Amino acid sequence: MTLDDLPFDVDSPATRNGAKGRKLCRRHEWEWTDWMEGDSRVLTSIEWCAICHHHRDPAASRRGRANRSRGNRAELDVARSIPGARKMGPLGLPWDVEVGAYARLQVKKLVSRPSPAEIARLIAAIPATGDRLRGFVWVEAAGQGRRGQRLVWFIAGEFAAWHGSSLPVAHTFAGIQGLLSMTLAEWIAEFVGNVA
Ligand SMILES: [Zn+2]
Repeated sequence: MTLDDLPFDVDSPATRNGAKGRKLCRRHEWEWTDWMEGDSRVLTSIEWCAICHHHRDPAASRRGRANRSRGNRAELDVARSIPGARKMGPLGLPWDVEVGAYARLQVKKLVSRPSPAEIARLIAAIPATGDRLRGFVWVEAAGQGRRGQRLVWFIAGEFAAWHGSSLPVAHTFAGIQGLLSMTLAEWIAEFVGNVA
């Protein structure tokens, strides 16, 4: 007996795009699809039925929920670390934390640091309204009980426009994608207190 032979399964709420309640097939047609759990903005792949959107591996859905909960905790932790910051609700916004009228930050807790191109893409996804600095915070998922690094990136030109050109040389990120990087703690200590 395979999964395909299982009887009609009414206990499979893991559907998206309003597909909830759709009748399941007698024989599923499995395919891989891009999947984003809720407002996690973490794109993964899952195997689901092309017709009824039944997930082949419910454990994958549970992992997705666990990742989202991990992401929410990381966002809250970052928001609580920054004076004047608040975590955004589950609105599907391309930023997770807002620092007063100063900055909007996308926050991700990941095992490894995203590539400069990915960081640039994540920052660019935050609307360039011109009234707030746009940034990305990487929280290192360091494993059980260990505190990972927390680094923040900005677009160097935008950061300079906010803070003037007298940036510490150590913070410039060698021209990679025009990004500038420092630890979250350095940013909070040297820059946030002056504006937030
Ligand atoms: Zn199906």
